[in-house]
Amino acid sequence: MKTQLYYIEDPTLLEQVHQLIVSEKHCAAVSWKKAIEAMINTYQELEDSYLQARAIDIKDVGGRVLEVLTGESSRTLKLSHPGILVTSDLTPSLALQLKQNLVLGICTSAGSVTAHSTLIANTLGIPMVVGVGTQLLSLATDSQIALDGATGELWIEPSQTQLQELQTKQTSTSSKLHLPEPAITKDGKKIPLMANIIGVADAEFALECGAEGVGLLRSEFLYLDRQNQPTEEEEYETYRAIAQIIGTRPLTIRTLDIGGDKQLPYIKLESEANPFLGCRGIRQSLDTPEILQTQLRAILRASYGHNIKVMLPMVTSVQEVRAAKKILTEVENSLSGLNKIKVGIMVEVPAAVIMADQLAQEVDFFSIGTNDLSQYVMAADRTNSQVANLANGLEPAVLRMIQQTVIAAHEAGISVSVCGQLGSNPVAVPILLGLGVDELSVAPPAISTVRRVISQLELSEVEAIAHSVLQFDGAQSVEEYVVAQLGIEI
Ligand code: PEP
Ligand code: MG
Repeated sequence: MKTQLYYIEDPTLLEQVHQLIVSEKHCAAVSWKKAIEAMINTYQELEDSYLQARAIDIKDVGGRVLEVLTGESSRTLKLSHPGILVTSDLTPSLALQLKQNLVLGICTSAGSVTAHSTLIANTLGIPMVVGVGTQLLSLATDSQIALDGATGELWIEPSQTQLQELQTKQTSTSSKLHLPEPAITKDGKKIPLMANIIGVADAEFALECGAEGVGLLRSEFLYLDRQNQPTEEEEYETYRAIAQIIGTRPLTIRTLDIGGDKQLPYIKLESEANPFLGCRGIRQSLDTPEILQTQLRAILRASYGHNIKVMLPMVTSVQEVRAAKKILTEVENSLSGLNKIKVGIMVEVPAAVIMADQLAQEVDFFSIGTNDLSQYVMAADRTNSQVANLANGLEPAVLRMIQQTVIAAHEAGISVSVCGQLGSNPVAVPILLGLGVDELSVAPPAISTVRRVISQLELSEVEAIAHSVLQFDGAQSVEEYVVAQLGIEI
């Protein structure tokens, strides 16, 4: 799979392998194994379940390269007759060997719904149920089993009635698969659907999932495991590799958003009592302008021939935007022959919402970061499970902030995207469209669901719903109302 190739072409990974060979004198296979294991650990420790699930892809491709380096033969799937494949887990390389006429369904004892293998199975139209537990592996080979990939249910020795119900459901869902591309509401409004990515591999994956571009590249994830600052050349190579995959589609690169719960080993931050209220995002970048300059130079150079935009995170004041733009202009002036790049800001701090009219005069676009906006509006730490019910983007307080942002942006003639998790919540999508959000950027696996939800909506209807829920008393009533009004399948 092409996506997997990007993991092994990752310049940071290759640099580490090189260092292990040169400075620690390990052989190529051992160096490769060590570097891949470190990369797997990094992904497994990330909070985001989608990113955690990428660990299996890295393990798979890393194992295959190791097989080549050590001369061991590669694994193959040998199937003789049609049936349901029962396995502990499915790696993407095994998933690629699936034959629809032989594999009628897949059931894994481990695994996750966001893994690439699940996506391949979905693309091939093969139903899959993951993470069922190890007792599954003791089933006799000729047991009869049935599964529903949509609900994640599994039946062992199903009755005739259960089989008939499943067959009826299968016939009705197969007619829903042919949806218009791109995402268009019932009354013809096109909503650009972008992807949130963290690196080179995800760029290819995003396109496979049907993204129309990248609405958010979280650039701080590119260098999480480095001890030293990447050179301008290294940054440029990475951005260029991503740009080459995305082609001329939009690619929005967010400048480093460190601080809060994210650290880069090569940027030493002062210890802070309240890091989320401290030196984070643009604040930190303006404290170390040389790092921002290097990043902007690399981005600008990579933008040649592509549709790259720059986005500033954690913006609180107009002065911050002006200071960052001043640095950008200096960098632009130092590079000749490049077109001016579009600049936007993340709207994720209440002050930015309140000042959105002034901020909109400074930039080309807004992108609402609902993960942070929810935590800052509701005063509820996004990493603290005890207050998770408060840090909810469906709270009317947060929705009113989104409404204010959209109004200010549209009055100034600029577009607004939502790139936080809220954009992939099927209940939130109608509200966001109803409030006038122009574009959504979501994790790649959510794209097809969001597109399906959009195709079931009518603008006049969602506008009325959005304005009603702004008057509600909390997230739960908002959710119940949207589900009852639209009766959409979520
Ligand atoms: C957000 O805050 O909604 C966002 C998209 O940025 P991050 O999750 O990286 O903070
Ligand atoms: Mg954020």
